[in-house]
Amino acid sequence: MSVEVECPCCNSTNIVEIEDYQDGSTVIECENCGISMEVTYSISAEVDDVTLIEIPSIDFYCPICGYSMTLDSVETKNGSEEVSCDGCDALLEVSWDECGQDVNVEVLEEGEDEEENDEEDEDDYDDEDYL
Ligand SMILES: [Zn+2]
Ligand SMILES: [Zn+2]
Repeated sequence: MSVEVECPCCNSTNIVEIEDYQDGSTVIECENCGISMEVTYSISAEVDDVTLIEIPSIDFYCPICGYSMTLDSVETKNGSEEVSCDGCDALLEVSWDECGQDVNVEVLEEGEDEEENDEEDEDDYDDEDYL
């Protein structure tokens, strides 16, 4: 027996094979967008619930240096992840919605090796703390 499951993210219809006369659940990947979801079905072969599990990949750019990065196999429930930029070493927080869209990147900490500051030396300050 099969049921039709509409993907909550891209609205395409997936045909899912289920066991006859039995309730249960199965994990499928959307044929269109590739997101993994758990489909729970009832004994009367109706889809009870669709829970998103894993996003195949999330592409994003570093807002500082523009370096392009990809997160693979992201669990939807996380919603965000801290990543260090491979380009400038900044600490970034990447967040996304449950479909892996609306990707937002925030800078938590800028990288230390910024080339524009190479004239300055942190050990060279003139402050004197004692009186
Ligand atoms: Zn889909
Ligand atoms: Zn960067």
